[in-house]
Amino acid sequence: MTLITVVGSVNLDLVARAPVLPRPGETITDATFERHPGGKGANQALAARRMGAEVRLIGCIGDDSEAIAATRLVRDAGVDLSRTRTVPDAHTGIALIVVDADGQNQIVVAPGANRTLAPDDVELSDTDVVICQLEIPVDVVARAVEQAPFSVLNCAPARPLPEGLLANCDVVVVNETERAFYGAALDDAAVVIVTLGAEGAAAFRKGTEVARVPSLRVEAIDTVGAGDTFVGTLAVELASGRALDTAMGMAAAAGAVATTRPGAQPAIPTRAEVTARMQEEDR
Ligand code: ADP
Repeated sequence: MTLITVVGSVNLDLVARAPVLPRPGETITDATFERHPGGKGANQALAARRMGAEVRLIGCIGDDSEAIAATRLVRDAGVDLSRTRTVPDAHTGIALIVVDADGQNQIVVAPGANRTLAPDDVELSDTDVVICQLEIPVDVVARAVEQAPFSVLNCAPARPLPEGLLANCDVVVVNETERAFYGAALDDAAVVIVTLGAEGAAAFRKGTEVARVPSLRVEAIDTVGAGDTFVGTLAVELASGRALDTAMGMAAAAGAVATTRPGAQPAIPTRAEVTARMQEEDR
């Protein structure tokens, strides 16, 4: 079976829904509260697992009750957490999210244990494809990409990268905002895939478009997690030897299904759901 190793973040998302966002110094008292497992690493690991791959997650969590909540869904799904390290002196990564009645949000992330992930934690034996994002120290990403037999780097959230890192990537995935942030530097990667929301996705080699796929037509209610679902699915399809455009088509469809349900991890679909929706649309 295909083994996907995800080197990335694990967070617990603490979400308060309030009529309005607070101004500096203001207290809003009539919010409701939910907490959800999150972090781009954990989200993408779950997406790859729900597509049927064997998945190992390399990351760091704190020695606290938040760690149990943050890893509940990946653990239940059978993601291998034997290389997810518990750090005694750090707290589990936390995202404090306030959402107002219009869906606008304010987010503060306290990375905690995610900051302590180190290059020596990267262990890729038997791995077919490695997935990374940018919520962990960049030297860890650099090590993973260097050692990977095949690497998929999701450049999110966008931040400056050391010289040469993109050139070591087999596939880089960005959304339109991230593409604007990096500009022509992205062309250093062998393949760049830009996700285009409801428009699907396009792939480029050295700035030349080589593939474009539509998304499914869906009633999107919450796009949180769509990008992570795209990345996890894409990695599984490429690891199974699918052609780039076929893999992108499946990833775009999976991202679309994720937008039809609230939240990030609970919204991530299984392979069976995605193929059923694709057949309905005759794709
Ligand atoms: P991000 O969430 O990282 O900004 P996108 O919004 O581009 O990424 O979404 C990732 C993928 O999810 C898209 O390539 C597309 O396949 C799917 N998707 C997102 N929004 C929609 C939508 N409104 N309708 C259909 N598919 C969508």
